[in-house]
Amino acid sequence: MVGAAGGGLGVQLPIETHNGGTALFQRPEAIPVGSPIFSDGVNQVYFREVGDHILRAAHFGWTNHPVDPDECDETITAAKLQTLREDLKKRFRSMRRGVYAGGFAAIYDMTPDAHPIIGNIGGVAGFWCNCGWSGNGFASAAAVGGHLAARMAGRSSAVDLGMFGWPRPPETKTRPDGNWIRR
Ligand SMILES: Cc1cc2nc3c(=O)[nH]c(=O)nc-3n(C[C@H](O)[C@H](O)[C@H](O)COP(=O)(O)OP(=O)(O)OC[C@H]3O[C@@H](n4cnc5c(N)ncnc54)[C@H](O)[C@@H]3O)c2cc1C
Repeated sequence: MVGAAGGGLGVQLPIETHNGGTALFQRPEAIPVGSPIFSDGVNQVYFREVGDHILRAAHFGWTNHPVDPDECDETITAAKLQTLREDLKKRFRSMRRGVYAGGFAAIYDMTPDAHPIIGNIGGVAGFWCNCGWSGNGFASAAAVGGHLAARMAGRSSAVDLGMFGWPRPPETKTRPDGNWIRR
């Protein structure tokens, strides 16, 4: 478990930092321009296009090796690239012809169940969290931020974010299999 900003307040958040590798590939002819984002939960990979010529691909968030975010390698290693290529090819055989065009690595902030931690946490007045998004926090940021801001201002909000507290309230459902995105 990696300590987080709450440590200074005596609140320990269960967030691990994992290093995910993203690779760019030249688009194989079999994957046409305008294709949707492909997300393959079985093989734990996704890819999407970046312009007309490049596909960007990565594994989902969990690894078996949390890293120190201040010391982590920001490149994609040959070993990671190989694993990513193998997992992409299982579903998309045309990715055999995707020529590698560079890559990078970045941090995922993973919680034990890959759900975020949102709300006033630890019973500390004024300590509001919106973190641990586990690789999924960008798309919903505006909506969640709006609802959380309403709560912080003492107003009600149309969406109940209570299920994202920590410790989790019992009604929060877990993912079907905690290991589904671990490799
Ligand atoms: C490779 C990759 C692909 C992703 N793809 C998607 C996707 O397709 N869809 C999606 O929804 N989400 C995606 N995400 C996840 C999404 O990017 C994150 O969930 C989201 O950015 C988290 O937002 P945040 O505000 O919690 O943290 P961040 O965006 O990390 O913002 C935290 C900020 O705090 C600053 N900071 C840190 N320490 C300090 C300090 N001590 N003092 C002051 N400032 C500090 C940092 O510099 C940073 O600007 C992806 C993440 C990665 C790594």
